[in-house]
Amino acid sequence: MIKLARVSTESIEKILQEAQQFADGKVSKIKGDVFAANLFFENSTRTKTSFEVAEKKLGLQVIDFEADKSSIAKGETMLDTIKTLEAIGVEVAVIRHSEKRYYDQLQDAKLSIVNAGDGVGSHPSQALLDALTIIQEFGKIEGLKIGIVGDVKHSRVANSGAGLFRRMGAKVYFSGPEFWFDEGMLVNGTYMQFDDLVKEVDVLMLLRIQHERHERTFNFKSEDYLKKFGLTKEREKKMKPNAIIMHPAPINRGVEIDSELVECERSRIFKQMQNGVFARMAILKFDLENKGFEFVDSQN
Ligand code: ASP
Repeated sequence: MIKLARVSTESIEKILQEAQQFADGKVSKIKGDVFAANLFFENSTRTKTSFEVAEKKLGLQVIDFEADKSSIAKGETMLDTIKTLEAIGVEVAVIRHSEKRYYDQLQDAKLSIVNAGDGVGSHPSQALLDALTIIQEFGKIEGLKIGIVGDVKHSRVANSGAGLFRRMGAKVYFSGPEFWFDEGMLVNGTYMQFDDLVKEVDVLMLLRIQHERHERTFNFKSEDYLKKFGLTKEREKKMKPNAIIMHPAPINRGVEIDSELVECERSRIFKQMQNGVFARMAILKFDLENKGFEFVDSQN
């Protein structure tokens, strides 16, 4: 899975249903020896480890691939690296890279590619785990109001999430510094002042400031950012009674969210991480089944 826009709504629904079944204890094991490699050219804690757990739970054999020690550091192209893995017998490669649409150079690859984040582009597995978390809470996405707040312009999480939530019938609102808002996002939702948005939404998704993707340095003091664009305790009190807080993490406590709210009753931040494993299992299974691999299902 490279991009959600290339996956039918029917398939997305199937993946989300299966992810929920995994959350409920369904076990799926792949038949035969099937190898997976995780190629992370950008930092990752949650995505990399949860893909690895997902692969192991599905019975895949995981190859240890250290991007910074690979031959890419000697000048080999990503396509040649992928072709090498193919020749060795790897069937699925999970890739994260800072280049937007890095996958365009891999069109000739025969193994399955799962996009674990391409620069400012997209982050499909995050959008699916977020959708799963929202459905667990509200039973559906249709008709909900979802607010995405912060560094919207540089966030692949905002990009993939907004597109998916709109497609599934939610109303999407954006907020945060206006210079970090990209007009291109208006196809998926509308911009709203943060203090209005907080009162309006069922789901409040906060984003980390993507310093590593900025062309120049922004010197915000943490307390100033929190006061203007972050979720303070005062703002949290204005949220609807059943509204929830989400954040893809890593969290910068005291910047986009008051540290004390990270574990508060409304927070689903650690639930999102848990769901990451189930959503990623469903994605891997979907891709591998499409390539003709078979799984044996049972219930725990
Ligand atoms: N972990 C997410 C990503 O890889 C969010 C973030 O880094 O802020 O995009």
